[in-house]
Amino acid sequence: MPPTRRAFLASAALALRADPSPLKIIFTGGHPGDPACGCAGTIARYADLGHEVAILYLNRGEGYCGTSPLDRCAQIRTAEAQKACQILKARPLFADQIDGRAVVDQPHYETFSRLLTAEAPDAVFTQWPIDRHRDHRAVSALTLDAFFQANKKFALYYYEVAEDTSMFTPGDYVDISKVEPRRRAACYAHVSQQPDKWYPKQVEITRFRGAESGFAQAEAFLPHKESKRIPLP
Ligand SMILES: [Zn+2]
Repeated sequence: MPPTRRAFLASAALALRADPSPLKIIFTGGHPGDPACGCAGTIARYADLGHEVAILYLNRGEGYCGTSPLDRCAQIRTAEAQKACQILKARPLFADQIDGRAVVDQPHYETFSRLLTAEAPDAVFTQWPIDRHRDHRAVSALTLDAFFQANKKFALYYYEVAEDTSMFTPGDYVDISKVEPRRRAACYAHVSQQPDKWYPKQVEITRFRGAESGFAQAEAFLPHKESKRIPLP
């Protein structure tokens, strides 16, 4: 009898635990909040397995921080991103573009690619490119370009976020049921983004992805078809 998907994933997780060489994995996002929104459970699970995880934010969220004045947003949202990273045991990195004014041109392709390449990741997770927000599309394009510039040396996976991602058909799933409290805490670290408004929508997505994969809650990903694969946690 063939092994069930769950048994297969469990044995893959065991194999990953036995791997003596930890992977380096980077999650890129258009704003502080996006990687936590789409991948916090997966980030927590990778970190718990001893892998090195970093989150690369395209900007510091200069464009919106609730009722605080705009000139304080970068500072407020950098602190929120750092707190989320602490909860997830990830290292924050910033590409220092400007929120709402993402630039995708030759110099910015080069700068972003250099930043990623210098980290020598084994895998990069980024936002699915068909998306309502320009900054999300921008970080996706910059990451894809870096993937090609690096001759596909690192694995490339796409993730989804509530409200903005569309037309996303994932292929791989990560069970996040046991790390749900940390995932929630990481999302709620982004206080200025009023998580009560969007967090329930992300939970709807992870419940739906869980129903697709046989877990209570799951995050779902799509590897680029030319990408190598890494073990998912
Ligand atoms: Zn965003």
